[in-house]
Amino acid sequence: ADLFDEECDYLFKAVLIGDSGVGKSNLLSRFARGEFYLDSKPTIGVEFACRNVKVRDKLIKAQIWDTAGQERFRAITSSYYRGALGALMVYDITRRATFESMKKWLRELRDFGNPDMVVVLVGNKSDLIRSREVAREEGKNLAEAESLCFMETSALENLNVEAAFLEMITRIHQITT
Ligand code: GDP
Ligand code: MG
Repeated sequence: ADLFDEECDYLFKAVLIGDSGVGKSNLLSRFARGEFYLDSKPTIGVEFACRNVKVRDKLIKAQIWDTAGQERFRAITSSYYRGALGALMVYDITRRATFESMKKWLRELRDFGNPDMVVVLVGNKSDLIRSREVAREEGKNLAEAESLCFMETSALENLNVEAAFLEMITRIHQITT
């Protein structure tokens, strides 16, 4: 353990899931490093990124796993979900098919994930208002039906990105401590 790890009270693992191209890697780079990439290639995906977050008096190291493009080949394995306390399940509000896929990703979460995992449904690319194919209400309704948190985000404009990750981390903290 390095110096930074020793200062942390908790380490939380969480995963990003959702179809390819919805913006998972950019949500993560935004949250972990404050960066956005206009043309991110699936091959340059990192395995995970960390950021320390203060929740009340505790310092939490959030370790967020990214798929590194594996979702293209449906090759996400149980080890990806192992030990994960939270998930951001992401679709692209401009591509309805990625929203339809949420049922498939939920099933996978239920098959491989921890049963009391905190799941946040995220409709990303909210900046692309004119190409919207999924109404905000539809996302909200799905989240309510499945007892998930819900948020629309823009990794490009840095809207709600912090809020989505913090919602997940804070809820994990409430459940596990
Ligand atoms: P991933 O395959 O789910 O990891 O998706 P990426 O993060 O690689 O993003 C796919 C593409 O969508 C890239 O060209 C990004 O620049 C773009 N992108 C990601 N998030 C947003 C967003 O919030 N708004 C817009 N307009 N484009 C985005
Ligand atoms: Mg990616």
